[in-house]
Amino acid sequence: MTFEKLGLIPELLSALAPLGYVKPTTVQAKVIPVVMEGKDVIATAQTGTGKTAAYALPLLQHLAKKEQKATTKKAIRGLILVPTRELASQVALSVGDYGKECSLEIVAIYGGVKLTPQTKKLQRGADVVIATPGRLIEHIKMGNVDFSKLEMLIFDEADRILDMGFWDEVEGLLGLMPKKRQTLLFSVGMTKSVKRLSEISLKKPVKIEINNNGDFAKKVTQTIYVVDSDRKCELLSYMIGSQNWHQVLVFTRTKQSADEVGDYLSKSGLKTLVLHGDKAHSQRTKAVAAFKENAIRVLVATDIASRGLDIEDLPHVINYELPSDAEDYLHRAGRTGRAGKEGTAISLVCKEEKSKFKEIEKVLKYTIKTEFYTGFETKEWVDKEAKKHTIKAKIDREKLTKYSVGLKRKRKEIKAKKDKKANSCGIDSKSCKLK
Ligand code: AMP
Repeated sequence: MTFEKLGLIPELLSALAPLGYVKPTTVQAKVIPVVMEGKDVIATAQTGTGKTAAYALPLLQHLAKKEQKATTKKAIRGLILVPTRELASQVALSVGDYGKECSLEIVAIYGGVKLTPQTKKLQRGADVVIATPGRLIEHIKMGNVDFSKLEMLIFDEADRILDMGFWDEVEGLLGLMPKKRQTLLFSVGMTKSVKRLSEISLKKPVKIEINNNGDFAKKVTQTIYVVDSDRKCELLSYMIGSQNWHQVLVFTRTKQSADEVGDYLSKSGLKTLVLHGDKAHSQRTKAVAAFKENAIRVLVATDIASRGLDIEDLPHVINYELPSDAEDYLHRAGRTGRAGKEGTAISLVCKEEKSKFKEIEKVLKYTIKTEFYTGFETKEWVDKEAKKHTIKAKIDREKLTKYSVGLKRKRKEIKAKKDKKANSCGIDSKSCKLK
């Protein structure tokens, strides 16, 4: 399959070539033709599969073919809803790249930054808006958004949008949109709430399921190191330092542990920045930029960064703590091994997290290699080994005692036999002289 065969217009084809997109990924080859036929789609696809282009290319093609008059204010015709500001800016970059020859206005709106520049852009007119639900509602309340001309609505990572508690906002937004529209819903997992959303927002959708867990396992070497929780920081710093890793994304479960781990690594001499929801938008952008440019070696982040961070050739992802949601494991690990590249995803798992990992393996449908990192074996394991050693030593001692007792007995028996023989033939067995 080629992008030409999918029927993309020359403006899009010439934008894809410099990005190194030689042929469509599986999700692109499956989704693009269906969207071009004007059908609604519900697709489950993991992160890193190329799903952004799968929805953005047919959207751009549809809008570019029906270009609006330059004299009238551009009305919003495409809306891409995403869960986080990181994903919003990442998607905006990609859509901007794909559509750079299509003369379409693309605007990203998300929280954590000033409203005014976004308001100005919306007032000038946008063909495509990429938005997080919360900030979009703010703009709606300010009267900056008109959906009356909306033709295509796209949910990117719908499960995450709903997990973040945006159900009411999404329902409210649907009420403002024309009933006659095309809707595409992309989600990593098919949760109950995603099914509910699909029922209220899609019409006779074509179901597309991309299960790339197997491919993912081939590209990304995944390992679990079992370690005591109080030695995780030490192991993390040793692992990065001793192997001279230069671009490592570390995930923690909470903001507090992100700060603590960041502190530890910085004090160990590893250039580290921390990314989580309490950091100002400018700090978050700076941290991501520094990480992408290799100005720092480690970025410690909460799950906020597991979606939307697209770093070419990111070699190492480490789960310092497991995510609370099994699906998030894939999002985190999916930051490496993007678009066919190889990578490593390591999880530092302590005793308390073992059952969580079983849940993750159920979602993955395969088991992950579990090892100890030499020198960082758990106390439990060391104690067990020591106990085994003591038992073995005891057994060895007992065996030795038995052996020497047996040997003594044997010697006595031989001597007794000799004496008996000597006595019978009149020889003193000690002096070997005739009596
Ligand atoms: P996505 O799942 O959309 O976040 O894409 C994951 C990564 O794959 C991004 O770095 C994209 O630029 C890249 N990508 C998407 N489609 C293709 C393609 N057809 N060929 C090569 N790389 C691609």
